[in-house]
Amino acid sequence: MWKVEDSIDLYGVENWGNGYFSVNDKGNIIILPNKDRSRSVDAMDLIKEIEKSKDLEFPVLLRFPQMLEDRIDEITGSFLGAIEEFSYKGTYQPIFPMKVNQRKEVIEYIIKYGAQYKIGLEVGTKAELLAALSLGLPKDALLICNGYKDEDYLRLALSVHSVNNIVIVVDLFEEANDILKYAEEMGITPRIGMRVKLFARGSGRWVESGGESAKFGLSTSEALELMKMLREKGLLDSLKMIHFHIGSQITDIRTIKNAMNEAARIYAKARKMAEIEYLNVGGGLSVDYNGSNTATPSSANYSLQEYANDVVYAIQKICEEEEVSCPTIVSESGRAIAAYHAMLIFKVIGKKNAKDSLLKSRETEDPIQIEDLCCAFKEIDIDNYKEHYHDALQYRDELYDSFILGNIGLEERAKGETLFWMVCKKAALLAKQTEDDSEEFQELKKLVSQKYIGNFSLFQSVPDMWGVEQIFPTIPLHRHNEMPSERGRIVDITCDSDGEVKRYAGDSEGLEYLEMHTLMEGEDYYMGIFLLGAYQDTLGDFHNLLGSAHEVHVMVEGDNWYICQKVEGDTCRKLLDFFNYETKDYIWEIMDRCVEKKQCIDKKELEQIEAQLNRTLKGYTYFITKPNGHFKDKELEQGVPHG
Ligand SMILES: *Cc1c(COP(=O)(O)O)cnc(C)c1O
Repeated sequence: MWKVEDSIDLYGVENWGNGYFSVNDKGNIIILPNKDRSRSVDAMDLIKEIEKSKDLEFPVLLRFPQMLEDRIDEITGSFLGAIEEFSYKGTYQPIFPMKVNQRKEVIEYIIKYGAQYKIGLEVGTKAELLAALSLGLPKDALLICNGYKDEDYLRLALSVHSVNNIVIVVDLFEEANDILKYAEEMGITPRIGMRVKLFARGSGRWVESGGESAKFGLSTSEALELMKMLREKGLLDSLKMIHFHIGSQITDIRTIKNAMNEAARIYAKARKMAEIEYLNVGGGLSVDYNGSNTATPSSANYSLQEYANDVVYAIQKICEEEEVSCPTIVSESGRAIAAYHAMLIFKVIGKKNAKDSLLKSRETEDPIQIEDLCCAFKEIDIDNYKEHYHDALQYRDELYDSFILGNIGLEERAKGETLFWMVCKKAALLAKQTEDDSEEFQELKKLVSQKYIGNFSLFQSVPDMWGVEQIFPTIPLHRHNEMPSERGRIVDITCDSDGEVKRYAGDSEGLEYLEMHTLMEGEDYYMGIFLLGAYQDTLGDFHNLLGSAHEVHVMVEGDNWYICQKVEGDTCRKLLDFFNYETKDYIWEIMDRCVEKKQCIDKKELEQIEAQLNRTLKGYTYFITKPNGHFKDKELEQGVPHG
């Protein structure tokens, strides 16, 4: 008997779920925003609620703000725990780097809850700085300015120095002159940070962010030169922070240890020249997306507490050795704060390349190739499957030859194809039973697996799956008390062959297939893609003009959960506007053109065109099943009659 526990094992839910996801007795995925089983959300209850709602359609992106809160608690808690354990003589402040998720609602949740820990923000461009300034960060929270900085960026950062705890980080040596020049002109004493290049490099995918050839950061001689420059201007007190960032998703703890030892040493030496207040250790804290707990690119071979311990310990030890005072430790863990809080729910809307079409009964005048395929299908078993599979390949080729020569018709060709696929499926099953891993049967298994079409865009919702082949757990949301009997892969609704989930969580390399349940007539099959909260929201693009998904934000309180916020996804109109198609007069222009092209177009036909244009323009960009359910009928509100 298949049990829910078997499903949890199969899909690795507890390996990658980090306590935030599990399966209940009904076989449904549950979400535990506080890692507390008594306060959970049954994904299927939520889906029912969304199905009932008139204005929501799948795909829907779910956000759980309480998961952001829990992550902030855990990360800060780990650092404070390490500080206590090692009797570190300094404190810790967390920072959220905006490029990880610039969505206003997300940042608002983070800074509201994180205020108790003085959580700050890190920005890398003018626009991010403008966004950050609009959010009312408390004055004791840091606002760190990174990235390439032009005159406007620098002057903006300097102009708000007295009302925000801004630190301008010198990422490139040339910026130092500009900062000092504008600050002097504006009569402001700047607060400056210095990003240093470490010799220690990251590992894994973003290895180029660190090391001597990194894009940002000062070399040792540049750092010394900057300090000399500040001393000459009597501005050494302006140097508040030493910063480094060796890249995102650092999967191997040894890399972090090496970087910390080097950075702490740089801090200690520099601290003897200037009263530097902060040591900012950047981001890089990894998320174990595939749950394998290894140093492979979508994983991590260390825990959060181990990370915090290593950071605090290295600084403590080196400051003691060098006899300098301990800095306030700042870390910019973006991925680790944001990744868990968002997931996408979509429906499977069909199968592609369905090869199990109906077989017609045998007829006496069947050509010889069909007879042969029939025999192969009947006789194939565990001892002879290789042979019969090879024979079937031969018969299929003969069948096509015969068709091309005009000897058999379409009916026979169809029948032969179906039989061939039946042999293939049986052979693949037998190969699986005998654990036959030969290349030939690997290929065959790939060939016979089904492609399930998911109503979503991989490019919009999971861009890193495409761009950097990162694994994001993708699993069914229900029927976990049933043994999955099919193997498949998920493809999205873009017309791009790259729009396919190619790796599934399960082992360190990722599995090539997903075990799935047989689709039932008249019953929806819901799937989720998890851990989408970091980097996916704004990296996503509009491939095929599929826009952002509707969002539903969910909170749990006591035994209940409720939807605390809905954010409308893009309509077709919004997408057209975004790409410079004027939609204001769109309908009139199209209608004018219709009249021009067809002199005697009748009124009914025109009305039909108008109504349909109207309806499609204000609709969701995805495959919809509630054609009249628009998020909010804006046209109707304005009194325009509706299709
Ligand atoms: C991108 C970035 C981060 C965030 O890194 P994560 O790996 O997501 O924690 C932190 N600091 C800087 C300077 C960055 O550029």
